[in-house]
Amino acid sequence: MTLQLAVTGAGGRMGRTVIETAIDRADTAVTVAVNRSPTASIGDITVDRGADLSARLAETIPDVLIDFTAPTATLEYVAACAEIGVPVVTGTTGFDDEQLAALSEHATTIPLLRAANFSPGIAVLRRAVEMVTRLLPEYDIELTETHHNGKRDAPSGTAKSLLESIAAERDRELSLAHGRMGDHPTDGDEIGVHARRAGDVTGDHKVLFAGNDEVIELGHRVGSRAVFAAGALDAAAWLVDQPAGEYDFEAVVR
Ligand code: NAD
Repeated sequence: MTLQLAVTGAGGRMGRTVIETAIDRADTAVTVAVNRSPTASIGDITVDRGADLSARLAETIPDVLIDFTAPTATLEYVAACAEIGVPVVTGTTGFDDEQLAALSEHATTIPLLRAANFSPGIAVLRRAVEMVTRLLPEYDIELTETHHNGKRDAPSGTAKSLLESIAAERDRELSLAHGRMGDHPTDGDEIGVHARRAGDVTGDHKVLFAGNDEVIELGHRVGSRAVFAAGALDAAAWLVDQPAGEYDFEAVVR
């Protein structure tokens, strides 16, 4: 069966890659593509205006909508999907607590899968970070992430999810230092978080553990957005069979 997809943010880096990857796969087809501003067709796929999404969804009723845009846009698009009953996979990052609560509300009506990172390697890195945090509870931890200079949110959603993994294993509140300057010694509870923005780096995350005269460094670097696009398409294929509710990518790669 071919999975019929709607894609938002079609003119963006990720939206375009999702469409190109879906075109290359035998099991997926893009039936709706929208972008905030006018955008040329991608292959045979016409890109409509974002404002027309509700009408296009009502005409075609795709199996799943895949969204990589920005928090306010995602909320608008998810509301349109909830009205028509279309499940959503979103990779957008940078939501605040209020926006996350609004997404949860929509997930009572439709299946909604949200992940800050659709690479299988990051899913495994999270588990490795959990293990090292658990086994070496007294070691200092520093997290560094590097992304292209067009990335809007900092630290990255993936960095935040790695911090959640660390917090889940440490039974004390994490104290985060976002970069350091001046007289700033640290105690064992502080985790330095360093967001670098440079060139066209697709995504690079490193977690350093240090103590007892030794250092362990766990890292992940992704070379192509096609990795995220393939993960998002796998997530869509998985989500189509799920009941309404909130899901993450761990459920797909388990
Ligand atoms: P981009 O800037 O290249 O594209 C953003 C897209 O969103 C564009 O099409 C733009 O028109 C649209 N957009 C932005 N604001 C909008 C608004 N207010 N209304 C309607 N449309 C709007 O960005 P990108 O690199 O494609 O990343 C998009 C999102 O996906 C970001 O949040 C990024 O952090 C995230 N991302 C997630 C993963 C993952 O694996 N989950 C991977 C890469 C990027």
